[in-house]
Amino acid sequence: MITEIAKGNAYDVALENFDTAADAMELDNDIREMIKYPERVLMVTVPVRMDNGHIHRFEGYRVQHSMVRGPAKGGIRYHPQVTLDEVKALATWMTWKCAVVNIPFGGAKGGITCDPKHMSLRELERMTRRYTSAILPLIGPERDIPAPDVYTNSQTMAWIMDTYSMTKGYPIPGVVTGKPISLGGSLGRNEATGRGVFYTIQCACEHLNIPLDHATVAVQGFGNAGSITAQLLHSAGAKVIAVSDSTGCVYSKNGLDIPELIHMKALCGHVQGFPESEPISAAELLALKCDILVPAALENTIRADNASAVKAKIIAEAANGPLNPAADRILEGKGVFVIPDILCNAGGVTVSYFEWVQDEQHLFWEAQDVYDRLERVMKTAFREVLKVQQDRKVPMRIAANMLGIGRVAEAVQLRSIYP
Ligand code: NAD
Repeated sequence: MITEIAKGNAYDVALENFDTAADAMELDNDIREMIKYPERVLMVTVPVRMDNGHIHRFEGYRVQHSMVRGPAKGGIRYHPQVTLDEVKALATWMTWKCAVVNIPFGGAKGGITCDPKHMSLRELERMTRRYTSAILPLIGPERDIPAPDVYTNSQTMAWIMDTYSMTKGYPIPGVVTGKPISLGGSLGRNEATGRGVFYTIQCACEHLNIPLDHATVAVQGFGNAGSITAQLLHSAGAKVIAVSDSTGCVYSKNGLDIPELIHMKALCGHVQGFPESEPISAAELLALKCDILVPAALENTIRADNASAVKAKIIAEAANGPLNPAADRILEGKGVFVIPDILCNAGGVTVSYFEWVQDEQHLFWEAQDVYDRLERVMKTAFREVLKVQQDRKVPMRIAANMLGIGRVAEAVQLRSIYP
């Protein structure tokens, strides 16, 4: 096992970044009070009969941070380190993220503190269905729409869709996104996050005059977001020299064969032992000399204690919250160009929005249609964030927050306060 990623408090990070951006915007205090904190927080007990016959009680959460610009939207995470504060942070970031890419959603997130790697498929199904019924009063296609996140996938979404639909008495595919295609999922949703990350890396390379087809890349986390980003970079001619997952890191100075590595990960469940690679430590991966570093695992990966070791020119945050504010300051000082999470990984929620639109219209698009629309949205958002960064002379993260927070602030001002 590689070292666990240290868990700082992600919610503190989300609040600190909000305050920095709000200060830079000179945001009115009343508006700050209205948009900074979650609108609703639900904690639920999820009792599950395990395969051994005993009942295990899990703790689950659903946080709706904002519904100012539209229904709340955000993934569901199954992980042993899920906490209420982590879910609040992830929900907060969803609000600014949806606003950065200008889609008509607010922000939400959910999670269960559990270890899915040590649960059977049947146990996971029973836990998912019970959790769905516990959060049922909050979710729905017009109010709050879950999606996959760490250690949840299209099968998890199918169980949620079925539980919700059975309770209501008719099929309601629009209650979740990231569903299997045969249940109303969208072509291109599975690879949307990685594809969005790839488009923002293209923009950053163009901006910094780094030829992507000669770039070297290290990727931390080889799940949905990380593996697809690696695959697209590999196809574009970049050399992916290192990759890690929760079991270890592999390195090859000549570049890893990413399609083969994806194949091996699907077969064996890990990247360790990949032929023609050598093992390195998690710390070594982050400190590799490369053009692009893609953190695609969990929060708080790069901190005050390891940020100065980073040698990459670009950090593309496929994960949510991989850098804390102390790391941001160090990397800013070193001139590293950071593509912040709420811009970089917004491709997932963007295609989730496309999926929801298709479900509502009962009309489905070609894959190329999805890719073209996604590329337009991501590249427009990148240009808009870069413009704020250049006009206001702030780091990219603060620029992205300013853009997102500004759009939410405008909406709340127009709606005013009820009653
Ligand atoms: P996933 O479950 O598909 O993959 C997670 C990966 O991280 C796995 O390969 C796992 O082995 C690896 N990992 C876990 N702990 C690690 C560690 N300590 N060191 C190295 N690797 C480790 O999850 P995902 O959907 O790819 O999510 C990854 C990140 O991307 C999360 O921060 C998530 O919030 C973010 N994200 C995902 C989506 C999406 O659509 N899936 C969208 C936006 C953002």
